[in-house]
Amino acid sequence: MNDQIMRYFADFAVPADVVAYVGRPIGHHIGGKTLEAASEQIDVIEPYTQARLTGLASGGRSEVNAAVQEARNALAGPWGEMLPLERQKLILKLAEAVERDKNFLAHLETISVGKSISDARSIDVFGSVANLEYFAGWTSKLDGRTTTAVSLPGNPLVYTVKEPVGVVAAIVPWNYPLQTLVWKLAAALACGCTVVCKPSELTPLSAMRLAALAQEVGFPDGVFNVVNGYGHTVGQELAAHPGVDKLSFTGSTVVGTSVGKTALDTMKRLTLELGGKSPVIVTERADLDKAARAIIAGIFSNSGQVCDAGSRVYAQKDVYAKLLGKLRSIAEDLVIGPGLDPAAQITPLVSAAHRSRVLDHIASAHSEGAVLVTGEAKAEQARADGILRPTIFGDCSEGMRIFREEIFGPVLGVTSFETLDEAVDKANSSVYGLAAAVYSDSVEETVSLSRRLKAGNIYINAHGLLDPTMPFGGMRASGFGKDMGPEQLDSYLSTKSIYVQVDA
Ligand code: NDP
Repeated sequence: MNDQIMRYFADFAVPADVVAYVGRPIGHHIGGKTLEAASEQIDVIEPYTQARLTGLASGGRSEVNAAVQEARNALAGPWGEMLPLERQKLILKLAEAVERDKNFLAHLETISVGKSISDARSIDVFGSVANLEYFAGWTSKLDGRTTTAVSLPGNPLVYTVKEPVGVVAAIVPWNYPLQTLVWKLAAALACGCTVVCKPSELTPLSAMRLAALAQEVGFPDGVFNVVNGYGHTVGQELAAHPGVDKLSFTGSTVVGTSVGKTALDTMKRLTLELGGKSPVIVTERADLDKAARAIIAGIFSNSGQVCDAGSRVYAQKDVYAKLLGKLRSIAEDLVIGPGLDPAAQITPLVSAAHRSRVLDHIASAHSEGAVLVTGEAKAEQARADGILRPTIFGDCSEGMRIFREEIFGPVLGVTSFETLDEAVDKANSSVYGLAAAVYSDSVEETVSLSRRLKAGNIYINAHGLLDPTMPFGGMRASGFGKDMGPEQLDSYLSTKSIYVQVDA
C-alpha cells in the first residue's frame, strides 16, 4: 500500500489489524482452507485514494472444480448428516462472530466499496447479523406435508419431504458485498446446502473474512467456499458447472440474462436478482417535508449504488415545484467526504470506470434537455477522490435515458403528472419491476397505488426498508425469485413426493 493510502487510514484511525488484513494478497477459500494467491493478477483498488490496496488471485476452471468438489464432499459427509438443530447452532455462532467483528467487517466494506462507515455498520453488518439469526430459526421448521390421497383406492400413505437442493453457486455484486452474500448464504445453510461464492473482483475482502469466520465457529470443511476472480471466468465456470445444483445471482440484467441461460443448460435452479429503475409517486396529499427526506435517502444512500434506489420521481402537478425545491435544499446539505469519515453521506463511487459511466448518463441528461436542479454540471471531469455530487434533474420524460436506464449512481430525475392514472402508466412503463414508492397521507391512494404498481417491493411513505422476514426480489427485467423471507426457502429445497401402498 502506498503512502497516500496509509495517510488516509491514519487520518481515520483504521485499526492496525484491519490495515494488516487489507494489505495481504487475497487467494481463495476452498475446502476449509484459505489458499494463498498463487500469483497476484488482479489489482484491488481503494476507491477514495484510487490507490492499489492489494492483489487478488484470478481463479479459473481448476479452482472452481476444486471448490465444487469440496462442496459436494461436504454434502455427502458431516454437513449432510448434521441434525437441523446442530445446523441452527452453527449459523447462530456465525451470527455472533459477525456481530463480534462488526467494526472489522464494516471497515472492510468501506475500504473496498468506498461506502460510508456509518452505513457499513448500521446497514451492511447489522443486516447480515439479522439475516443469519432469522434463518438459523428456519433449520428446524422445514417440514414436508402428510396428506390424504383423493383419487387413489386403498388409502395409501402419501407425504412429501424437503431436501437440500445441493451445491449453491452465489454470484454477488460490489455494492453490498457482505449483505448480498449473506442473503444467499443464510438460507442455503438453513436448508442444508453448501455454497461456492464468487464475489465481485472489485470487493472481495468481506467474503473471504466471512469464510474464515465460518471456519472458526466450526462449519465443516467445504460447506462455504469462495473462489475469486473475474465474472467471465470464475462466474461463467460456476454457471456452467454440472456439479452446481442452484445458481443465485445478484447483478445487472445484462449479465444475469446471459448467466441464467448458461445455468439452464445444466438445469440448475435459478434465482436472478437484477437491476431496477424504481419509480416514486408523490401525490398532492403527501407530507412534502417527510417525502423529500425519504426520497433523498432512497436515491443517495450508498451514493446511489443501490438496486432499488428510487431514481425517477413523479410529482403531482400542484406540488412539483415545491417538492423540487425541498429535494434541492436537502441534497445540497448532504455531507460529502471519504467513506471512512463517519459524518460523510456521499462517498466515492466504487471505481473510476463506474464513475465515468455515471458521468456519461449525466451528460446525456443534459443533452436530452433535462434541467439541472443541483449537482454535476456537464463539464465535470475525473476527480482525484472518486466522488460525484448528488445530482438532480427536473423536467424529465420517459424518452430520456435518465428515466429509462439504471444509472446506479447519485442521480435523480423528477417530472410531474396530473392524474393518478397517468402516474401509474408512467411508473409502470419501465422494463424493470424491482421496487416502487408512494408518498401520500391518503390511505385510499396508497392502497390503490400499491395494488396497481408492477414491482416486487412497494414502499409507502418510505424507501428501501428491508427485513429478513420480507421477501426481496423483482419482476420482469429485474429478475425472478426471492432473497429473504420464508419464500426464499423453497428455492434451496427439493420437494420429494412419497406414495406408500398399504395392503392391510
Ligand atoms: P454485474 O452484473 O456486472 O456483476 C455481478 C456479478 O456477476 C459480479 O460478481 C461479476 O463479476 C459477475 N459476472 C460478470 N460477468 C459474468 C459472467 N459472464 N458470468 C458469471 N458471472 C459474471 O453487476 P455489478 O457487480 O456491476 O452490480 C451492479 C448491478 O447489480 C446493478 O445492475 C444492480 O441493480 C444489481 N443489483 C441487484 C440487486 C437485487 O437484489 N436485485 C442488489 C444489488 C445489486 P465481476 O465483478 O468479476 O465482473
